[in-house]
Parts: sequence; structure tokens; C-alpha cells
Amino acid sequence: MGIDKRVRPNVRDIQRYQPGEDHPGALKLSSNENSRAPHPKIVAAVVAALKEANRYPESGSPELTRALAAHHRVSPDEIAVGNGSNEIIDLLVRAFVEPHESVVYPVPSFIVYGLIPKVCGCKGVAVPCRDHRLDLPAMAKAVDSNTRVVFVCNPNNPTSTYVTATEVAVFLDGIPPDVLVIMDEAYIDYVDASDFPDSLSLRKKRDNIVVLRTFSKFFAIAGVRVGYAVAHPVVVDAIHKVRQPFNVSRLAQAAGMGALACAEELKPLAQETIAERARLRDAIVSLGLVCPGSQANFVFVDLGESKLDLFAELLKRGIVVRRLGQFGSARNTYRITVGMPAENDRLIDALREVFHHRPAATRPASS
Ligand code: PMP
Repeated sequence: MGIDKRVRPNVRDIQRYQPGEDHPGALKLSSNENSRAPHPKIVAAVVAALKEANRYPESGSPELTRALAAHHRVSPDEIAVGNGSNEIIDLLVRAFVEPHESVVYPVPSFIVYGLIPKVCGCKGVAVPCRDHRLDLPAMAKAVDSNTRVVFVCNPNNPTSTYVTATEVAVFLDGIPPDVLVIMDEAYIDYVDASDFPDSLSLRKKRDNIVVLRTFSKFFAIAGVRVGYAVAHPVVVDAIHKVRQPFNVSRLAQAAGMGALACAEELKPLAQETIAERARLRDAIVSLGLVCPGSQANFVFVDLGESKLDLFAELLKRGIVVRRLGQFGSARNTYRITVGMPAENDRLIDALREVFHHRPAATRPASS
């Protein structure tokens, strides 16, 4: 028997994660990154840490854990730091879900929610979004006695929409207390909706809520890899038991400390992205396209049944966006990161060119 037959069947069938494409010389708006370079304080912290790179990092990221605990006014045993919040998603499923048990997650949403259950050999239950929003009632219905974990991506990647505090409260009332509800808030720094749920407060009353945050987006250090969970000490302890001894590099721990040190200073920059997001969406909607209101650093464009390859059209014009086939939507949809003002100008010009040059009959209908 060849070695190929020895790859576990569920792993053999997995389609590798396809990151947002990057084309040399093109403007990359495909991965929800921050177009700004990291703050100089973060860079300085990483450079200083590099000088001690001969030493392993501290296991369990104790200094960053304490700083995050102080930042969120929780106890250090309620914080787990990971190699990006992506790693924590992986660790939670591995720690909490047996092979015969299931994970409920929305689609389209962050691809990793469906990928990790496949890797672990447990059951993934995908619940379609409705009108580009998480369908929380349907997700609650999908939870049964076999379910151990539910993912709530808020705001949702890739549809950019959010679910409200009231919707989340009703949802949580329908979830058994021994099912982990993972509130993935990777884009929370870009939220300006007043009815967005305060999941850190909700967590104080419910032991089963895990809040995921990342330094990758707003803090502009996606390339360093650091994210964290705020969760009940039992959940945090389980994460520590299944993680690698040195899962968060010395550079990543230092970057996280640097990010916290300039958090207040960076805050006003979120407003710039929020304003640019509105400008970009207005331009897209004025072309007659479907683009839901966004609470993240990206917008979602739904071309419905249209056959237009917007990815290719924009690439011809030197701009790379994300096509969403792998996100589990049958529709012709795209995700576009909000860039710096000049980048957004370029994108808007390109979109106008693509859509104004098309005969009206082939343009997608607005809704
Ligand atoms: N959750 C969501 C919803 C995301 O979009 C991402 C990154 N694309 C992550 C988690 C992972 O972020 P990171 O591992 O960089 O912290």
C-alpha cells in the first residue's frame, strides 16, 4: 500500500486553505489586512525581542497575558494567547470536540470553522446565512445534544454584517450551557453600530462564551501572528493543555505588548477606515450593485447570478480582491478590503470602468 493511502481519509478530502491572492506590483485588497505599516512602537518592540531570539519564548505568554487581563479587566487565568486567533479556533475544537460530536458554524463565514472539524474528524454542521447575515435562529436550531461548539463570527467575514445585542441575547438563551459559543470578533475595532453586543460582559454571566480577538487587523501585525481568547479559566486551561509549548513566538509576544502600549494612540485611525468604508460602499451601491452595510474593514459585493469575473476585471486594472468560492457561497460574490484613501480611489475608478463599460443587460440587478 502506498503512503498516499495512509493519509487519513478526512484529511485526503480537504481542500487546502487558499489565502487571498497576491500579485506582484498589484494593489492587494484580498486579505483584510491593514494597509498601514505597524506603529513604530510595535516595530521597536519586535526588533528588541529579535535580539534575544536565541532563547525560546516564554511558554504561555505570561507577560502579554497579564497585560491583556489588565486591558480587559479580567483575571489572567481568563486569557489565552495564540499564534493568531486562528490557532485558538483549532485548539478549542481539539480540546472540546470528540470525533462523534459536532461543531455548528455559519456559511459563508471564516473558512477555518469548517476546516478544523474536518481535520479533527468530527462533524461540521454548516448553517447558511440569510440576507448576508448570520441566521442565529437557524444556528440555534442546528444545535443538538451532539453539538459541543458554535461559531458566531461578528462582524461576519466575508459578508461584513453584524448581529445585534438583542439577537445574540435571544440566541444565547437557546444554547445549552455546556456548548461553547465562540464569539469571533476579529473585526471589532471597526464596529460603530451602537447595538453591537458587548460579548465581554455577556461572558461574565455565561461560562460557555469564548471571545476571540486578534492583533492582525486593526493593529496591523497579521504577519507576526498573535491573537487571544477571553474565556472561563477551565476553557483557558484546556487551551494550554493542547497548545504547543512555544506556540507564540518571542517576536509575537513582544508585538502584542507593543500593540497594547499604543492602543489609545491608534484608536482614532479606526474612524478613518470607517469613513472610507462608507465612501467605498456608497460608490459600489451607486453602480447598482448589492453591497451590504459593513461593520468591518472590508465590503462584500454580491453579483448574484451574473457571470462577470470581477476578480479578473480588477486584476487587469492592477487590483487584487478576494473571490469567495471557497467560502461556501454558490453566488458570484467578492470581498474587498478597505484600503488607504488613495487605494480606495483607485478601486472606485476601476469599478466604475468595469461597470460603466458593460451593456446594461449584463449588469447585475440591484436590490
Ligand atoms: N477570525 C476571523 C473572522 C478572521 O477573518 C480571521 C483572519 N482572516 C481570523 C479569525 C484569524 O485571524 P488571526 O489568526 O490572524 O488572528
